[in-house]
Amino acid sequence: MDVKREDPAETLTSDHSGVEVEALREELCEAQAALRESEERLRTLFAYAPEAIVMLDAETGRFIDVNPRAEALFGLSRERLAELGPVDVSPPYQPGGASSLESAIAHVQAALDGTELTFEWWHRNAEGQQLPCEVRLVRMPWGSRNVIRGSITEISVRKQFELCERGRSQVLERIARGDSLSDVLQTLVKTIEELLPGMVCSVLILDQETRCLHFGAAPSLPQFYNDAVEGLKAGPATGSCGTAAHTGKRVIVADIRNHPYWAAYLPIIERLDVRACWSEPIISLESTVLGTFAMYYCEPREPVQLELDVIETSAQLAAIAIEHDRTKKLLSDVNASLERRVASRTQALAEANKELERSNDELRQFAYIASHDLQEPLRMVTNFGQLLQRKIQVGADAESAEYLGYVVEGGQRMQALIDDLLEYSEIGYQSRPFQAVKLDRVVQLVLANLRASVQDTQAEITYGELPTVVGDKPQLVQLLQNLIGNAIKFHDQPPPKIHLTAEQNGAEWLVSVRDNGIGIAPEFYSRIFEFFRRLHNRDRFPGTGIGLAICKRVVERHGGRIWVESTLGEGSTFFFTLPMRDVK
Ligand code: ADP
Repeated sequence: MDVKREDPAETLTSDHSGVEVEALREELCEAQAALRESEERLRTLFAYAPEAIVMLDAETGRFIDVNPRAEALFGLSRERLAELGPVDVSPPYQPGGASSLESAIAHVQAALDGTELTFEWWHRNAEGQQLPCEVRLVRMPWGSRNVIRGSITEISVRKQFELCERGRSQVLERIARGDSLSDVLQTLVKTIEELLPGMVCSVLILDQETRCLHFGAAPSLPQFYNDAVEGLKAGPATGSCGTAAHTGKRVIVADIRNHPYWAAYLPIIERLDVRACWSEPIISLESTVLGTFAMYYCEPREPVQLELDVIETSAQLAAIAIEHDRTKKLLSDVNASLERRVASRTQALAEANKELERSNDELRQFAYIASHDLQEPLRMVTNFGQLLQRKIQVGADAESAEYLGYVVEGGQRMQALIDDLLEYSEIGYQSRPFQAVKLDRVVQLVLANLRASVQDTQAEITYGELPTVVGDKPQLVQLLQNLIGNAIKFHDQPPPKIHLTAEQNGAEWLVSVRDNGIGIAPEFYSRIFEFFRRLHNRDRFPGTGIGLAICKRVVERHGGRIWVESTLGEGSTFFFTLPMRDVK
């Protein structure tokens, strides 16, 4: 420290006695030695302090002294620094946009007022490199001079971490919120610009098909420049971004006025207040180039490690944003096309259903009318055939009588078929509203209808407690009459034993009709419910093969199911369900 002091020994006057003077001189010498020693210690402390220390003259705004750490931090000699002040080793603006000059004056004034200050400050070294620092200011007792001691610690690593974290969380938050890609990129660019003062950024997005770059976000670059870059084809020597997008590698151009990559754009450069442009390719997880993240500086310069780390992190964040947007678009495209397909399928299905219903209706109508109209002429054939049969029997023409017998029998069979067909087609065609139907009453009606065959076969028919169900009574009679009729009919030796049960099964009734008849082989369990499906010839068991098809139709019209379980030679059990419902 070059602080000038007066030598108190020289100021002693001669009017003191010699002894006194001698004693005083000795004392003074000792004091001087002690002072030198303490100064030496102070200087050592100053020189070897772990942080940069500067002594600032608050009047002139210049450094009085700096330690070697400060020389190293700013990249300037002690002598050179003595000609400068804090503002000369700072960028013009601090993060957040405050002017360095104004902020420095305010801080110095506060320190002079006796406040001990600690704050974050961006310095700049001789190479133009930005240095995030923590600064502590303390006023020093220094005679009449206003001296301030500043200790400066570089906090690049901590700052860098903070920058990345802040930027990352802001951008990710916006992505998660579902903001548009341009909003997300704009936030990213603004955040980075705020954190590295004096620098402006841009994001360009690469069209994968045309390989052209399009505007992503560049709020601080002039419009004419953004317009000029829009649609730029990525290729060799197409500025920093075009080249980075083309090669997939980082491009550092320290001075765009003297670089071959920018040679083709001189007229634009002349209008641009930019000298350095570094561009980082934005790369997807699948290693395709999605675009570029660029940093621009007004002065020619190379990046420092902190800036390289920030540009890399920014490009990664941009990659997340762009990929997220692409996935979102892809998903919504897939959804839209799926919806379109479902809608068109639904429409086609509805149309097919309508068509099916219409043709079903027509068919039902046709079957009903045909069987109805056929009945009359058929009855005539059978009746007159029978009359003729009687006459011929009288005349005893045996051969003609036999032939006529076939005619009459055929007519009767046809009659039975038409009756069944009519019955079947009536199920859907003539629908009555459902009502409460006592099932035991239905069974009694069926037994009355089947009295003759019950008596002929000496069938024993029993049933447990039967519920009241909701349905179409005549159709339920038809259903049980067919099932009990079959149970009596498909029978060999011992008299038929038939048992009916009904039990509640969840929200439906489960009804069963069990017999001890001939049984059914498993392979026919479902086929016997088809139209005209018979397992035996007419000589053994007469029938049309429509009865169970009618049963199935009745049960399904009531919202239930029907099936059979059986053991050949031992008997069968037919089950059907009827949903429980309220009578309207
Ligand atoms: P049909 O009784 O007029 O022959 P169905 O449609 O009622 O016609 O029955 C179809 C076929 O199912 C019958 O021909 C018979 O082979 C078989 N079947 C129906 N009910 C029984 C039963 N209870 N026992 C054995 N076989 C049966």
